[in-house]
This record gives sequence, C-alpha cells and structure tokens, in this order.
Amino acid sequence: MRVETVVESEVVELFAGTGTCPVCSARSKAVDGWIYGAFYNLLHNEDARFRLKSGGLCREHSRRIVEIAREKSDIGSLPVSVVFKELLIGQLDLIGQGERKLFKKAPSSRSTGSCHLCEVSRESGKRYVIAIAKFFDSEKIRKLYEESSSILCIDHAREIVVSMRTATAEWFVALQKSKVESVVKMLERYIGKHDYRNTSPIGDDRNAWLTASRIIGEARVTGHNE
Ligand SMILES: [Zn+2]
Ligand SMILES: [Zn+2]
Repeated sequence: MRVETVVESEVVELFAGTGTCPVCSARSKAVDGWIYGAFYNLLHNEDARFRLKSGGLCREHSRRIVEIAREKSDIGSLPVSVVFKELLIGQLDLIGQGERKLFKKAPSSRSTGSCHLCEVSRESGKRYVIAIAKFFDSEKIRKLYEESSSILCIDHAREIVVSMRTATAEWFVALQKSKVESVVKMLERYIGKHDYRNTSPIGDDRNAWLTASRIIGEARVTGHNE
C-alpha cells in the first residue's frame, strides 16, 4: 500500500468546497489525477496500461475517462481508444465455454469489481478519513469545518467517527448532525415553497437537492415512514 501523508493545507482546501464532502472530493481528485497522469503519457506507461487491463473498468470510471479525454485536448480520444481496445480484446476471452462452467459452479466467486480506479479511489478515501479524524483534534481545523459549508457525507462521517478519539467524536457527532439537519431544513423549505399558498421566493434552497445527493450514504435505513 502506498503511504502518503495528507497535509493540513490539503484538508483546509477541501473544506473550502460548497455542499460537498471533503473525502468524496479527495477521492474524485485522486481518480482524475490518476487518469490524467496515465493517459497523458500512455504509450510510455506500461504500468498504467497493465493495471487498467488486469482489473477491467467499472461503468463510472470508464465514463470518467471519456469525460476527461473530452475536456483535456492533450489527452483526446487516441490513448483512450488504445486502452479500450486492449481491454475489449482481453475481455473477449471471458465470454466462452470456460466461463459457462464457472458460472454454473460458483456464481459468487467470479472475480468482478476489481477496477483499478475504484482501488485508487478507496485508498485515497482511507487516507483522508484517517487524516481528517486526526486533524479534528486541532481547534483551528474544527473551527474551520464548523464555519465551512462543506459537509462530510453520511458514509464518510461514519468512518471518521470510528477513527476518532472519544472526546473529539462527541464534538463531531453534534456538529455533523446539525449540518445534515440544516440540509433537511433547506429541503423542507424548498418543498414548502411549492405549496400554492406560498408567497416567498425560492432562494438558496433551490440547490438543496443537489447538496443532498452528494451527502446521502449507502447505509440501510430502518424504521418506518412518518
Ligand atoms: Zn464522502
Ligand atoms: Zn471503478
């Protein structure tokens, strides 16, 4: 595993985001950086080609590669075509008789989901979760997060709590809940403004659904509807 130190200034920069989760942002940045670095000089980067080829690509990351290639004219579609071709040729062999047996025997043991970019994303996430949990021991960083409009998503907030000292966790849980509740209130305000009796104009709350989309986690919600 690559050991990389997350420095305070990086965290400070991530906290400057509006309505975004600092860990999710760090993960996206890591993935974009990897894609750019790999495809910028792809013909001389055997290692990157090997990693992409051996793990396959999830839909999200093949889409991201295409987006970056379109945005950055110094990448363009040529290196992406080269990698996609290699990937498809390699994966052609997966459609066949051997695979048929494999499916029948043990469908759950198939080696899917090893997209290298997912791994880059996960590794970066872990680093930032540990770093942020530690940085929250500092008054200065706490204050910064309190005043920032960035919000850790539900999943990363839960991971951070686990990595924290107990005293810090108390502060964090209270703050995190109030941040999420403020998004809920904005959603309520926005929804309420669609009532025919409403006369107040829609303001900042028009973006509440977008903020919500970025901070909702994958945790299963138990309990019943109101
Ligand atoms: Zn997150
Ligand atoms: Zn992926």
